[in-house]
Amino acid sequence: MNMPCEIVKDLLPLYLDGVCSDGSRAAVEEHLAACDGCAAELRAMRAALPIGGAEQNLKEAEAVKSISKRWRKGMAKSLLKGVLCTILAVAVLALVAYVFADFRIVF
Ligand SMILES: [Zn+2]
Repeated sequence: MNMPCEIVKDLLPLYLDGVCSDGSRAAVEEHLAACDGCAAELRAMRAALPIGGAEQNLKEAEAVKSISKRWRKGMAKSLLKGVLCTILAVAVLALVAYVFADFRIVF
């Protein structure tokens, strides 16, 4: 059995979100295989809604993961730089304090 395009287009958002029943899903898939118009509509909806489509979700999650990995690497590097700078600054301050303290003892 094949549904009219109107009904399929009504069901497409539910189909995209994966919340329609197995029967509706099967009917939509059967219709999409035979109807270019509704298949194009589904593609347009997928393009417009980045949260639609598990495949796209996975790709996005992967992209976010790689970005956060890169970001974390950068963070570690800048944290290390910050720690080194702090140690250097403290060492210089200690040296200066030591030298001045020495001077005070000498004079
Ligand atoms: Zn159709």
